[in-house]
Amino acid sequence: MPSRSRRPRRDDPLTAALGYFRDLGVREIHLPAAAASGPLAAGPVVPTASPARARRPGTAPERVPAARFEDLAAVEAAVAGCQLCGLCRTRTRTVFADGTGRRRLMFVGEAPGADEDASGVPFVGRAGQLLTKMIEAGMGLSRQDVYIANVLKCRPPGNRNPEPDEIASCRPYLDAQIDFVKPAVLVGLGKFAAQFLLETEEPITRLRGRWGVRQGIPVMPTYHPSFLLRQPERKKEAWEDLQEVLRKLGLPIPGKRTEPGS
Ligand code: SF4
Repeated sequence: MPSRSRRPRRDDPLTAALGYFRDLGVREIHLPAAAASGPLAAGPVVPTASPARARRPGTAPERVPAARFEDLAAVEAAVAGCQLCGLCRTRTRTVFADGTGRRRLMFVGEAPGADEDASGVPFVGRAGQLLTKMIEAGMGLSRQDVYIANVLKCRPPGNRNPEPDEIASCRPYLDAQIDFVKPAVLVGLGKFAAQFLLETEEPITRLRGRWGVRQGIPVMPTYHPSFLLRQPERKKEAWEDLQEVLRKLGLPIPGKRTEPGS
């Protein structure tokens, strides 16, 4: 009697998980050695982005619309369990976002550092303290009223630069955050965030201070706070960029002070 082939049920959790990763652009699934000789239950499935999808910043892979996720909490939950790139093996915590975005202003940085990896909150180390100062003392806003996220949600070991395949793998999450938060203005902090948001490879020195657009939203690239810690003489330019942001948002520019964080 011929055997009948089994078709996966639509509600099969494995089928659902594979569909989810397929929608994120994953084309290969790498199994740990233990699973290679046994059932899938022998070890966790570790999907990785296909090398074909590993793109340099400045190129434009397809977007996964926010509609793929029910809400921002669903994006955060997906990030919390994400194994789409190798950083899942070295992270302590995923770092999703901070703030409400009530002011419709969103800051995007590069990736978590050691303090953020330990706390799960973006921009809490020295650079984060400067960013808070820029937002609060410089712009006259509350940090909790803006939205702060990074291109990568997991820390690259030793704070090395993000790899193109890591950026490509993590991209759908930031796209979805932008779609749900709906900021009126995006600020790209530093080279990687600015290049990611504007899909260019131009250096930050040429990008900063010039408006660009992403997902229909004005983008202001400026220096990363960690760069400003190393080169405080560039704070004046960053402050000029933030004043442009305030003008775009129709908000008053606080008087007296000449630059944030000074
Ligand atoms: S960096 Fe992004 S894509 Fe890589 S494991 Fe973390 S959440 Fe997933």
